[in-house]
Amino acid sequence: MGLSVEQIDQLFKGLYIVAGILFILSLAGLSKQTTARMGNIAGMIGMVLALAAVIAASVYESWAVHQPGIPAELAATRWSPEITLALIIGALLIGALIGTPVARKVEMTQMPELIAMFHSFVGMAAVLVGFNSFAVPPAGEGSDALTVHLVEVALGVLIGAYTFTGSVIAYLKLSAKMKSAPLTLPGRNVLNLVGFIVFFALMIWFTVAGVDPMTHAPTALGWVLIIAIAVIGFALGFHMVAAIGGGDMPVVVSMLNSYSGWAAAAAGFMLGNNLLIITGSLVGSSGAILSYIMCRAMNRSFISVILGGFGVDTGTVAASDEEQGEHREIDAAGAADMLMNAKSVIITPGYGMAVAKAQYPVAEITSKLRAQGINVRFGVHPVAGRLPGHMNVLLAEANVPYDIVLEMDEINEDFDDTDVVLVIGANDTVNPAALDDPNSPIAGMPVLEVWKAANVIVFKRSMATGYAGVQNPLFFKENTQMLFGDAKQRVEDILQSLSVPA
Ligand code: NDP
Repeated sequence: MGLSVEQIDQLFKGLYIVAGILFILSLAGLSKQTTARMGNIAGMIGMVLALAAVIAASVYESWAVHQPGIPAELAATRWSPEITLALIIGALLIGALIGTPVARKVEMTQMPELIAMFHSFVGMAAVLVGFNSFAVPPAGEGSDALTVHLVEVALGVLIGAYTFTGSVIAYLKLSAKMKSAPLTLPGRNVLNLVGFIVFFALMIWFTVAGVDPMTHAPTALGWVLIIAIAVIGFALGFHMVAAIGGGDMPVVVSMLNSYSGWAAAAAGFMLGNNLLIITGSLVGSSGAILSYIMCRAMNRSFISVILGGFGVDTGTVAASDEEQGEHREIDAAGAADMLMNAKSVIITPGYGMAVAKAQYPVAEITSKLRAQGINVRFGVHPVAGRLPGHMNVLLAEANVPYDIVLEMDEINEDFDDTDVVLVIGANDTVNPAALDDPNSPIAGMPVLEVWKAANVIVFKRSMATGYAGVQNPLFFKENTQMLFGDAKQRVEDILQSLSVPA
């Protein structure tokens, strides 16, 4: 007993809903460290199911339109099932051949760049889906439905094009192939506004004159208009992300994540695919919520971040060491001594710990000190490292217990009663200038108030500035000592000193 066409269609829709539910469970699981592994597994199963269902549905549809009794013009709109399958497998193989080696060799510290590059692919895919579904509009639509479809195409192409160039610029900035300083063209907000107004005008024109009213075939003017919309999207994406700089880049990464979700949802509307709409909306809204949370953590307004212009101007030079005073140094043996005499220790990790891969010896020191009855905890700044949650991932990887890893808000009050703080490769996130100096480019950003502890040891290789390019007065405070060198090497040296019986 075979299934009818409608039943098979319902079956695929059912599978899409199951995949959608698994994606929601995945997000719910990922919100807590203890359930994150389960969240990842749910996401993976959902993705395999979604891929299998999409491939099966595409091959089934091309098979169905080539059955006897189906009008020839309809059959002509689809490849044969064999060619459809071969094209999908070919595309998967090309993607896997490019993606696998890149994903295998990428360092955790380069993750944001990789993610930005992936977002650019999603953006370009939405543009191409837009062009494609304009060239071949869905069959059998009335003129109202067709107008809605043209609006979807115009919006999808704009969001996709914006996401594409925006992500490419974010990739170039994050990988230091382009200066992270903001591009501040005169009247840049007016330029953006004009861009959006022109887009709306073109979209209306496109829905009126984009297709022939009788045949519904795309017109030459329609092609000119949709290409003009894409060009506006590319230009806006370039301009708006180039205008964001310095310490605001974390928000850009999660904002582009959100845009890539909306681009995928737009593609879902154009293709009439519910799964893409569900997944795109989940990514779009979770990215938007994350951007909002990060803005709050950095005490920045979301609007001023997306309008850009914040960061270090190319001409700004960080204050020199002489203006700041003298810094003092300590060696690994001295640091080990200080730790053994402490009752309470807080470790604040940053980007340098990730670069040095120092999380493993840091975890060893932690368990050694805890075994001596010393209270050791971690203070994690929301934008430490180069990726939301970057430090939490590294510490979990090194098996540091979750309950001693605290958020900035949970630990900031405790520095007063702390004997030793180890600042391991962190810089901007522990910079007192953010609170004391209203002219600092990071003024207003809440930071880990490490200087309130009795002793601070800063692990870094030189007196160089951090990501935002601003000097850090913490290094020159009376209770601060610098431990120069590669963070992993220095932490291992301390471990050795701790192992030698006194
Ligand atoms: P910073 O980037 O401010 O500073 C990192 C420090 O690590 C540097 O001063 C560097 O000094 C030191 N370092 C680098 N390599 C090593 C090494 N091998 N051993 C020891 N030290 C090393 O780090 P934070 O984590 O404090 O701040 C993150 C910054 O990145 C913020 O400005 C944030 O806005 C930005 N950002 C965050 C993103 C996110 O999502 N979390 C995304 C994009 C940007 P030296 O060279 O002297 O060794």
